[in-house]
Amino acid sequence: MEVLVNSWIDSLPRRLREWMEERLEPEDDYGRYMEGGDFIDEEFIQRTLKECRDPSPGEVRRIIDKAVCDKECLEPEETATLLNVRDEELWKEMFEAAGEIKRAVYDNRIVTFAPLYCSNLCVNNCLYCGFRRDNRVVRKRLNPEEVRAEAERLAAMGHKRLITSYGEFPGLSDANYVADTLREIYSVKVRARKGWGEIRRVNVNAAPMTIGELEMLREIGIGTFQVFQETYHHETYARVHPGDTIKGNYHWRLYCMHRALEAGVDDVGIGVLLGLYDWRFEVMALLLHSRELEERYGIGPHTISFPRLRPAANTPFVQKAEYKVSDEDFKKFITVVRLSVPYTGMILTAREPEYVRREVLSLGITQTDFGSRIGIGAYSESYTEQELERQQFELGDTRSLDEGIKWLAEMGYIVSFCTAGYRCGRTGKRIMKLLKTGKERIFCKLNAVLTYKEYLEDFASEETRKVGEKIVEKEMKELKELVPEKVYERFEDYLKRIENGERDLYF
Ligand code: SAM
Ligand code: SF4
Repeated sequence: MEVLVNSWIDSLPRRLREWMEERLEPEDDYGRYMEGGDFIDEEFIQRTLKECRDPSPGEVRRIIDKAVCDKECLEPEETATLLNVRDEELWKEMFEAAGEIKRAVYDNRIVTFAPLYCSNLCVNNCLYCGFRRDNRVVRKRLNPEEVRAEAERLAAMGHKRLITSYGEFPGLSDANYVADTLREIYSVKVRARKGWGEIRRVNVNAAPMTIGELEMLREIGIGTFQVFQETYHHETYARVHPGDTIKGNYHWRLYCMHRALEAGVDDVGIGVLLGLYDWRFEVMALLLHSRELEERYGIGPHTISFPRLRPAANTPFVQKAEYKVSDEDFKKFITVVRLSVPYTGMILTAREPEYVRREVLSLGITQTDFGSRIGIGAYSESYTEQELERQQFELGDTRSLDEGIKWLAEMGYIVSFCTAGYRCGRTGKRIMKLLKTGKERIFCKLNAVLTYKEYLEDFASEETRKVGEKIVEKEMKELKELVPEKVYERFEDYLKRIENGERDLYF
């Protein structure tokens, strides 16, 4: 495998050019979405950020109230106003409001998942990434048995959701390979204490795809399709993604969520890699991206991700990055995104160390990972330390899923493994409406408890189980007040059946 990959890479750039031309066929060409330019109008962003300087406390409070009450995207001028706040007392009010929105839309739930790195074969050359083609690291692609072994390990830990991740490589790490890995993962079933473990939702973080490829993945049952723009700033984008790579094409990437939604992949995840450019600019751009998708398709981003740059092997770019985001600004970034796109899920990854995770969870985080390993094949092999040479970057928090669940329970959070919404068609426009009106909250609350109970029965350590049962009791009391009697009876019946070993019962 490695020899084959290196010989392919050595024949660049001719083969890559041919392949790029083939991929950007007219039917999928992004040009048809653009009228005179793309929707990231930099001049507008910079001007708006400037014009909204020195906001009055009254105006800031009006915007905060609007975000809390409406659950709709803010206007760009409103987001720019929040980004310009200098008064620390007003920031405190914004932190509180972000938490309020999180509780209103998502309650005390945190969805959890694990990353599964399937392949680091990559023809791109992103300056910040340990997998870039010029970095002569060991190249590996999991074969079907290896994908299965990894998924079995994860299912045996209690995970129900994965995010698979891939480098981009023609013929070897492409849409067909993604499809094969999804099929393999969905077919996994492992024994557990009382029931069984399985992966019920696979989100995908991969390179942009054509509409036809996305339709294929939709049919297999892809969860959220995630592609991060990394930076929306055109010039910076060009600097960190060399022009002789497919990732160097800003618009092919920018419009990939348009193609996904046209292919019927309803849940799309956007994001930025913090540290490449000014974080205030990126917040404005994420808002414009969300508004563009809502205006065109009636569906905003299902999730927004915001990884901060982490050290990677032989990757000096990271140390020299000019726009590194401090912990304090990271908090502010999360807060303004929460207020600006109140309905969206927000993902915090194990790139962040425990103290940061603790600090920002309450500001609006809805999903986070535990027990993560990001080497190719890392779950199945017996290594305990992070092997930087084989990873895309270094993790900041390597606690197990069980430790994570206990940690969250002690802070009053319930971890949800629920994947029912997606399987009942609560995605896209339907989920947007349910989220904005707060109705999804009830379905999710019921299903969170059911899936949490499954975890406690099948996988939890004694200590986690003790804290977890207290959370279940508390949730049951709240649900009794919230849902009609008939629903509550059914819910109690489901809980008993779960104790007796039945699985996958949901509303
Ligand atoms: N290859 C695909 C792509 O680039 O879109 C998808 C997978 S890539 C493994 C997932 C994400 O990891 C990238 O979109 C980028 O935001 C992030 N990433 C890359 N290098 C990183 C680093 N040094 N620190 C933190 N995150 C990084
Ligand atoms: Fe390849 Fe993705 Fe890494 Fe870029 S970020 S080098 S595309 S794996």
